Amino acid sequence: MEHLKNIIRDIPDFPKAGILFRDITPLLADAESLRETVNALVAPYRDAGITAIAAMEARGFIFGGLAADALGTGFVPLRKPGKLPYETISESYDLEYGAASLEIHADALDERDTVLLIDDLIATGGTAVASCRLVERLGARVAGLAFIIELDGLNGRSALADYHVHSLVHY
Ligand code: 5GP
Repeated sequence: MEHLKNIIRDIPDFPKAGILFRDITPLLADAESLRETVNALVAPYRDAGITAIAAMEARGFIFGGLAADALGTGFVPLRKPGKLPYETISESYDLEYGAASLEIHADALDERDTVLLIDDLIATGGTAVASCRLVERLGARVAGLAFIIELDGLNGRSALADYHVHSLVHY
Protein backbone atom coordinates (compact mmCIF):
# COMPACT_ATOMS: atom_id res chain seq x y z
CA MET A 1 0.00 0.00 0.00
CA GLU A 2 3.08 2.27 -0.04
CA HIS A 3 1.85 3.69 -3.38
CA LEU A 4 -0.72 5.67 -1.36
CA LYS A 5 2.21 7.96 -0.52
CA ASN A 6 1.89 9.29 -4.06
CA ILE A 7 -1.51 10.73 -3.21
CA ILE A 8 -0.81 11.86 0.39
CA ARG A 9 0.41 15.46 0.34
CA ASP A 10 3.19 16.76 2.63
CA ILE A 11 2.57 20.22 4.13
CA PRO A 12 5.55 21.72 5.98
CA ASP A 13 4.95 23.86 9.11
CA PHE A 14 1.26 22.95 9.59
CA PRO A 15 -0.40 23.53 12.03
CA LYS A 16 2.82 24.85 13.64
CA ALA A 17 6.41 25.54 12.58
CA GLY A 18 8.44 22.33 12.52
CA ILE A 19 5.46 19.95 11.96
CA LEU A 20 5.35 18.12 8.61
CA PHE A 21 1.62 17.47 8.16
CA ARG A 22 0.51 14.46 6.10
CA ASP A 23 -2.57 15.70 4.22
CA ILE A 24 -5.00 12.93 3.24
CA THR A 25 -7.50 15.18 1.41
CA PRO A 26 -6.14 14.29 -2.08
CA LEU A 27 -6.70 10.62 -1.20
CA LEU A 28 -10.28 11.42 -0.14
CA ALA A 29 -10.92 13.16 -3.44
CA ASP A 30 -9.84 10.16 -5.55
CA ALA A 31 -12.59 7.53 -5.72
CA GLU A 32 -10.32 4.60 -6.52
CA SER A 33 -7.77 5.42 -3.79
CA LEU A 34 -10.54 5.97 -1.25
CA ARG A 35 -12.18 2.61 -1.97
CA GLU A 36 -8.84 0.80 -1.92
CA THR A 37 -7.90 2.48 1.38
CA VAL A 38 -11.15 1.54 3.13
CA ASN A 39 -10.96 -2.07 1.90
CA ALA A 40 -7.36 -2.38 3.10
CA LEU A 41 -8.19 -0.82 6.50
CA VAL A 42 -10.90 -3.38 7.29
CA ALA A 43 -9.35 -6.43 5.54
CA PRO A 44 -7.76 -8.02 8.67
CA TYR A 45 -11.02 -7.61 10.62
CA ARG A 46 -13.63 -9.06 8.24
CA ASP A 47 -13.95 -12.25 10.33
CA ALA A 48 -13.14 -10.71 13.72
CA GLY A 49 -16.74 -10.43 14.91
CA ILE A 50 -16.65 -6.62 14.91
CA THR A 51 -19.94 -5.19 16.19
CA ALA A 52 -19.01 -1.49 16.04
CA ILE A 53 -16.50 0.92 14.53
CA ALA A 54 -15.43 3.73 16.86
CA ALA A 55 -13.56 6.66 15.33
CA MET A 56 -11.95 9.93 16.40
CA GLU A 57 -13.13 13.36 15.32
CA ALA A 58 -12.65 14.60 12.67
CA ARG A 59 -10.70 12.77 9.94
CA GLY A 60 -11.38 9.43 11.64
CA PHE A 61 -15.10 9.98 11.07
CA ILE A 62 -14.65 9.87 7.30
CA PHE A 63 -12.83 6.54 7.20
CA GLY A 64 -14.74 5.16 10.19
CA GLY A 65 -18.11 5.74 8.55
CA LEU A 66 -16.99 4.07 5.34
CA ALA A 67 -15.43 1.19 7.31
CA ALA A 68 -18.70 0.66 9.23
CA ASP A 69 -20.50 0.37 5.91
CA ALA A 70 -17.83 -2.04 4.58
CA LEU A 71 -18.15 -4.34 7.64
CA GLY A 72 -21.89 -3.89 8.08
CA THR A 73 -21.55 -2.51 11.63
CA GLY A 74 -22.75 0.57 13.47
CA PHE A 75 -20.60 3.64 14.08
CA VAL A 76 -19.70 5.27 17.41
CA PRO A 77 -18.27 8.81 17.36
CA LEU A 78 -15.46 9.83 19.74
CA ARG A 79 -15.75 13.60 19.97
CA LYS A 80 -14.05 16.70 21.31
CA PRO A 81 -15.47 18.00 24.63
CA GLY A 82 -18.95 19.49 24.66
CA LYS A 83 -20.10 18.12 21.29
CA LEU A 84 -22.05 15.03 22.35
CA PRO A 85 -25.55 15.86 23.62
CA TYR A 86 -26.23 12.93 26.00
CA GLU A 87 -24.38 11.68 29.11
CA THR A 88 -20.65 11.20 28.35
CA ILE A 89 -17.42 9.86 29.78
CA SER A 90 -14.13 11.59 28.98
CA GLU A 91 -10.37 10.88 28.66
CA SER A 92 -7.54 13.45 28.43
CA TYR A 93 -4.30 12.88 26.50
CA ASP A 94 -1.22 14.62 25.05
CA LEU A 95 -0.96 15.29 21.31
CA GLU A 96 2.10 15.66 19.09
CA TYR A 97 1.16 19.35 19.24
CA GLY A 98 -0.79 20.25 22.43
CA ALA A 99 -3.22 18.50 24.78
CA ALA A 100 -6.80 17.41 24.27
CA SER A 101 -9.62 15.21 25.46
CA LEU A 102 -12.15 12.93 23.85
CA GLU A 103 -15.67 11.93 24.90
CA ILE A 104 -18.01 9.03 24.15
CA HIS A 105 -21.69 8.63 24.96
CA ALA A 106 -22.02 6.56 28.14
CA ASP A 107 -24.51 4.19 26.47
CA ALA A 108 -22.69 3.88 23.10
CA LEU A 109 -21.16 0.42 23.77
CA ASP A 110 -21.33 -2.38 26.33
CA GLU A 111 -19.74 -5.74 27.18
CA ARG A 112 -21.36 -7.39 24.15
CA ASP A 113 -19.38 -5.18 21.76
CA THR A 114 -16.18 -5.97 19.85
CA VAL A 115 -14.80 -2.71 18.53
CA LEU A 116 -12.47 -1.68 15.70
CA LEU A 117 -10.99 1.79 16.28
CA ILE A 118 -10.14 3.86 13.19
CA ASP A 119 -8.19 7.07 12.66
CA ASP A 120 -6.31 8.57 9.73
CA LEU A 121 -2.91 8.68 11.43
CA ILE A 122 -1.06 7.44 14.51
CA ALA A 123 1.77 9.63 15.80
CA THR A 124 2.54 9.31 19.55
CA GLY A 125 -0.48 7.07 20.09
CA GLY A 126 -1.96 9.40 22.72
CA THR A 127 -5.27 9.78 20.89
CA ALA A 128 -5.50 6.04 20.28
CA VAL A 129 -4.71 5.08 23.90
CA ALA A 130 -7.39 7.50 25.18
CA SER A 131 -9.84 6.02 22.66
CA CYS A 132 -9.11 2.45 23.83
CA ARG A 133 -9.73 3.54 27.42
CA LEU A 134 -13.09 5.07 26.53
CA VAL A 135 -14.21 1.88 24.77
CA GLU A 136 -12.99 -0.37 27.59
CA ARG A 137 -14.50 1.78 30.37
CA LEU A 138 -17.88 0.98 28.78
CA GLY A 139 -17.09 -2.75 29.03
CA ALA A 140 -16.44 -3.37 25.32
CA ARG A 141 -13.40 -5.15 23.83
CA VAL A 142 -10.96 -3.49 21.38
CA ALA A 143 -10.25 -6.02 18.60
CA GLY A 144 -7.77 -3.70 16.89
CA LEU A 145 -6.86 -0.24 15.66
CA ALA A 146 -6.53 0.62 11.97
CA PHE A 147 -4.76 3.70 10.56
CA ILE A 148 -3.94 4.89 7.07
CA ILE A 149 -0.63 6.41 8.22
CA GLU A 150 1.82 5.45 10.97
CA LEU A 151 4.66 7.83 11.90
CA ASP A 152 7.17 5.18 12.99
CA GLY A 153 9.57 7.61 14.69
CA LEU A 154 6.98 8.66 17.29
CA ASN A 155 6.55 5.14 18.73
CA GLY A 156 2.75 5.09 18.86
CA ARG A 157 2.86 1.33 18.34
CA SER A 158 4.74 0.76 21.61
CA ALA A 159 2.05 2.75 23.49
CA LEU A 160 -0.40 0.19 22.03
CA ALA A 161 1.66 -2.95 22.73
CA ASP A 162 -1.41 -4.79 24.10
CA TYR A 163 -3.45 -4.27 20.91
CA HIS A 164 -3.53 -5.37 17.28
CA VAL A 165 -2.35 -2.33 15.26
CA HIS A 166 -2.82 -2.21 11.47
CA SER A 167 -1.34 0.65 9.35
CA LEU A 168 -1.28 0.96 5.56
CA VAL A 169 1.59 3.43 5.05
CA HIS A 170 4.67 4.13 7.18
CA TYR A 171 6.79 7.30 7.36
P1 5GP B 1 -1.21 11.07 18.33
O1 5GP B 1 -2.25 11.16 19.40
O2 5GP B 1 -1.00 9.64 17.87
O3 5GP B 1 0.08 11.74 18.70
O4 5GP B 1 -1.72 11.91 17.08
C1 5GP B 1 -2.65 11.38 16.19
C2 5GP B 1 -3.77 12.34 15.94
O5 5GP B 1 -3.27 13.57 15.45
C3 5GP B 1 -4.73 11.78 14.91
O6 5GP B 1 -6.07 12.02 15.34
C4 5GP B 1 -4.41 12.56 13.64
O7 5GP B 1 -5.59 12.88 12.91
C5 5GP B 1 -3.71 13.82 14.12
N1 5GP B 1 -2.48 14.12 13.35
C6 5GP B 1 -1.26 14.39 13.86
N2 5GP B 1 -0.36 14.64 12.91
C7 5GP B 1 -1.02 14.50 11.75
C8 5GP B 1 -0.61 14.61 10.36
O8 5GP B 1 0.56 14.86 10.00
N3 5GP B 1 -1.56 14.38 9.42
C9 5GP B 1 -2.82 14.06 9.77
N4 5GP B 1 -3.70 13.83 8.77
N5 5GP B 1 -3.24 13.96 11.05
C10 5GP B 1 -2.35 14.17 12.03
